[in-house]
Amino acid sequence: MSMASPVGSTSPCPRCSSTLVEIHLDQAGRALVMRSCSTCDSRWWQRDGEDVAIGSILDTVGSAKKVVAARC
Ligand SMILES: [Zn+2]
Repeated sequence: MSMASPVGSTSPCPRCSSTLVEIHLDQAGRALVMRSCSTCDSRWWQRDGEDVAIGSILDTVGSAKKVVAARC
């Protein structure tokens, strides 16, 4: 008897330990993952399992929704 992993489980936010929202996208055959924390308004991107800078994502996605970095 094995326990099934809950769907959508992610690591907690490294800044505030809140639960992250994880969004999977498929962009030109590449697996894009955006992790977003609604508590401290942080975002992280991964492509093919590697961390990428937001700038390169926007460059490739093209449909540039403006991403505003939170500044405290
Ligand atoms: Zn957070």
